[in-house]
Amino acid sequence: MQMTAEQVIRFIEEVAAQVRDQRDYLTQLDAAIGDADHGANLDRGFSTVLTRLPGVADKDIGTILKTVGTTLVSTVGGASGPLYGTAFLRASAVVTNRTALDEVAIIGALEAALEGLHARGKAQRGEKTMIDAIAPGVETLKQAYAAGDSFVVALQKAVAATAAGMQATIDMLATKGRASYLGERSVGHQDPGATSAHLMAQALLRVIERG
Ligand code: ADP
Ligand code: MG
Repeated sequence: MQMTAEQVIRFIEEVAAQVRDQRDYLTQLDAAIGDADHGANLDRGFSTVLTRLPGVADKDIGTILKTVGTTLVSTVGGASGPLYGTAFLRASAVVTNRTALDEVAIIGALEAALEGLHARGKAQRGEKTMIDAIAPGVETLKQAYAAGDSFVVALQKAVAATAAGMQATIDMLATKGRASYLGERSVGHQDPGATSAHLMAQALLRVIERG
């Protein structure tokens, strides 16, 4: 299996479409434990990304992902911009000059993205953030693929792991980010960032399934 630069573009377009579609829902989740801007933040960022994609459509995957990262860092207000921006930038750095990615390269890019999130946000699993969806997703993808699943099946399991991780944030106490200001009152609400992370994983699966 190879993920081409064109498919990477379609993945970003799919994320932008999902963010647009789920904008109000993401903002509603953030209203409960944050400042009601997560959907608006990501929609602003990915809308700007969409305007920049035509300029990099014939470029390598590293350049495409780097453009996404720098755009998110500079246009998304709030914690999620620098975090997702760093994730895309770290992924871009391990696929420089590549015009297609095999399974191992995709997993490597996702691992680099996760490391970037840890480095930038200093959060670990269990702190009620996007990490709680992304970390189990990346781990499941890597393990399932290593155990012999096809990449699509491994990715389906990974998306299910991001969903489970997202749902698990409901019972968690937030100790990072804005939701941590609420202390015990953060318990009982699903984390907005874990929700947008699950949505991005679904977008990747959709593009890979389409082939
Ligand atoms: P802000 O909290 O600045 O308003 P957003 O609302 O756009 O930014 O994003 C909030 C999301 O960011 C949270 O739901 C959480 O998943 C994520 N987040 C916040 N701080 C961290 C962190 N230190 N590490 C990882 N994710 C974080
Ligand atoms: Mg917010």
